[in-house]
This record gives sequence, C-alpha cells and structure tokens, in this order.
Amino acid sequence: MAKNTKQDEFESPDFYNIDSLLSEEHKLIRTSIRDFVKKEISPYIDKWCQDAHFPQEIVAKFGEIGAFGPFVPIKYGGGGLDYISYGLIMQEIERGDSGMRSTASVQGSLVMYPIYTFGSEEQKLKYLPKLASGEMLGCFGLTEPDYGSNPSDLVTNFKDMGDHFLLNGSKMWISNSPNADIAIVWAKDENGRIHGLIVERGMEGFSAPTTHNKWSLRASATGELVFDNVKIPKENILPEKSGLGAPLMCLDSARYGIAWGTLGAAMDCYDAARRYSLERIQFDKPIGSFQLIQKKLAEMLTEITKAQLLVWKLGKMMDDGTASTVQISLAKRNNVEMAVKIAQEARQIHGAMGITGEYPMMRHMANLESVLTYEGTHDIHLLILGQEITGISAFK
Ligand SMILES: Cc1cc2nc3c(=O)[nH]c(=O)nc-3n(C[C@H](O)[C@H](O)[C@H](O)COP(=O)(O)OP(=O)(O)OC[C@H]3O[C@@H](n4cnc5c(N)ncnc54)[C@H](O)[C@@H]3O)c2cc1C
Repeated sequence: MAKNTKQDEFESPDFYNIDSLLSEEHKLIRTSIRDFVKKEISPYIDKWCQDAHFPQEIVAKFGEIGAFGPFVPIKYGGGGLDYISYGLIMQEIERGDSGMRSTASVQGSLVMYPIYTFGSEEQKLKYLPKLASGEMLGCFGLTEPDYGSNPSDLVTNFKDMGDHFLLNGSKMWISNSPNADIAIVWAKDENGRIHGLIVERGMEGFSAPTTHNKWSLRASATGELVFDNVKIPKENILPEKSGLGAPLMCLDSARYGIAWGTLGAAMDCYDAARRYSLERIQFDKPIGSFQLIQKKLAEMLTEITKAQLLVWKLGKMMDDGTASTVQISLAKRNNVEMAVKIAQEARQIHGAMGITGEYPMMRHMANLESVLTYEGTHDIHLLILGQEITGISAFK
C-alpha cells in the first residue's frame, strides 16, 4: 500500500490546561495511541480512503494496543481502564480517521459491552478475550432497511424451535459487517420483545454483503446482515437484559466515544489550519496575519476548548455511573457539529490545497457526515433534549 511521506506532526491544543485534570496513566495512554496513529494510520489513511479499502491487519494491531473494550475488566481480556481513558483512545484514533475509530468503538461499545453487560459467564469467557485481542472482529445489527431512527419497530425476528432459535430478517448500514466473525443482532421473539443474539460467521443462511459506493467512512467496511432461517443455538441469546433498553445502553457507551472521537477530528483540522496559516504567504504575508483567518482559528480553539471540558466532565460522570442518556446525547450532538464546522473552516483556510488528500479536512468532513447520522441522528438527539426540557416527545 503506497505510503504518504508527509510527516504527521500533530500537536493537540490545550488552552485551559485540561492536562492538569488527567492522571499520568491517562497521558501515557494518550501518547501511546497518538504514536500508534502517527505510525500505523496517518501514512496510509488517504490511500485506504481513496481506494475504499478496509485494512484488515489493523484489527490485530488495535488489539495489541488495547483499543478494543478498554473498560472491560482484565479478567476478560480488557484493559480494566476508566472511561476517560476510553475517551482519550477514541479521540486519538478518530484524530487519525473516523472510520478507524468506528471499527474500534463498534468492537468495544457495541459488541464487547453487550456481551460483558448482558452476557452469561460462558459467553464472556468465550468471546471477550478474542474480541479484546483482535483475534475476532464483531459488529452490531440494530438498524434495518425500514427502521433507522425508530428501532422499536424492527421486524427481524426469531422463533423458539425447542432446541434452537430460527432467525429471519435483515439489517442494513452495519459497520464492520463484511469482515465480522460475530454479530450482535437485535431481534424480536414471538411476543415482540427485543433480545440480543450472537450470530457467528458461517452459520447456514447468514450472509453479510458489503455496501459499496460510500463517500464517507471509506476506510471502514459497512454492509448488511441477512438472515434466512438461521439456526441459532439457544446458548447464543444474551440472557441478562431484553427490550429496546439493552441496545440503547450500548449506544450510550458508543455515543460517549463519539463525543471524544469527533474532538480528535476537530483538533486535527485545527492543527493543520494553524500550521498552514503560518506557512502560506499571500500579499507578502503569512495568511495567519489576516484578521479573518485569525477569527476562524480563534473560534475553532474556543469551540475545541469547550468540547474538551464537556467530554472530561462527561467522562467523570460515566466513571461514577451518573451520566444520563440525555447528557450523552448533548455531548455527541455538540461535538459532532463542532467538528463538522471546524473541518469546513479549516478546509477554507487551506484554499484549493484543502480539497486534496495532502491534508485531512475533506476526509474528516466526509466522514463526519456519517457520524452526524449514525448512533442517533443530529436531529433526533436534539429532540431527545427537547423532550427532556419540556417533558413532551416531539418525535413519536
Ligand atoms: C456509515 C454508517 C455506519 C453505520 N453503522 C451502523 C451499525 O454498525 N449498526 C447499526 O445498527 N446501524 C448503523 N448505522 C445506521 C444508523 O444508525 C442509521 O443510519 C441512523 O439511526 C438513522 O437511520 P436512517 O438512516 O434510517 O434515517 P431515518 O431514520 O430514515 O431518518 C431520515 C431523516 O429523518 C429524520 N427523522 C426521522 N424521524 C424523525 C422524527 N421523528 N422527527 C424529526 N426528524 C426525524 C432524521 O433525523 C433524518 O434526518 C450506520 C449508518 C452509517 C451511515
């Protein structure tokens, strides 16, 4: 794979000395993931995206650096780390690319988390160590062709056949699906109650075709999950929680990771724009000497600083178990929008150069369009906040 020879010199802004709120362990984790991204992702990511190539080898590498399910206890192969550490890992990986972060956050929050939280001891021992090490890749199937924002009406279903379940239906827009060894599939029983099932690659009647022609998250594989009378062993049902609340709990954990991850994408764009504004000469001066460029940079730094404080406080609430779904919605929504705007402004600062793969902004911009939509659209999160404020649901 051709390598981009341009050096990744990223430095993160820390205008409010937020580092003073982090432990030495947090900073070490951040440094090690940042170094990994500079070495293993930055030189290749433009080419992977241009070619719509998912680098399968990254899965084992993510396993090695502890990027999968860092909050899962060591006993099950996880890192036994806190949520601030998880956030920092997502920030650094998405600084490299949102598609790479999607691979890691699906594995951690949407596959390992449900097995750890709702699974049996046998399921935890069977799957979690392999998922943590990257020996196995997983995906999370909730969205269906006709049910995106309202998953409660999903129609994928299973029947109790005595010694096994029979699964039918399909899922769409599933990250990691074409390469996944297992899928956590949310399906209804004969009473219409949602359960999580662990479906393994190779089960008869199960296929996972790739979705082609995406202009966003091009280094992340997306696909369908199709179930045609798939026999599921009874021990593959997640026993400890059923109902829509179960997948929504997983999404809380993943959206938390997005709030940090998009901060990484925003910081990457800001850092690139700051450097470029000092190097690019027009009218005999660096463009960074013009007021309008300084306004853009000052506003970017302001928004990044606010977002850094937001995720740090949210991380503390995640760690003490007090973060609510609505608080997570607010952070996901705010930080994705912040990152989209910063990517656009940073692109403008780069002028024509900004549309090339030499710089990260266009890739981040295109990626962030998916992030605006997945794990609850930008508008649905706004309506969740509206419901919290007024007590009235405007979306159902
Ligand atoms: C790249 C990518 C990866 C994904 N990965 C996964 C995955 O791994 N697993 C998974 O299960 N899903 C995944 N998704 C699916 C994603 O979660 C859904 O796309 C998302 O929930 C929105 O559903 P939809 O696309 O069907 O849009 P729709 O629900 O059809 O919404 C379309 C528009 O209508 C608006 N809208 C809908 N209802 C209302 C309302 N009541 N009031 C106001 N506006 C409304 C929405 O905000 C949106 O703007 C992924 C999506 C993408 C793009």
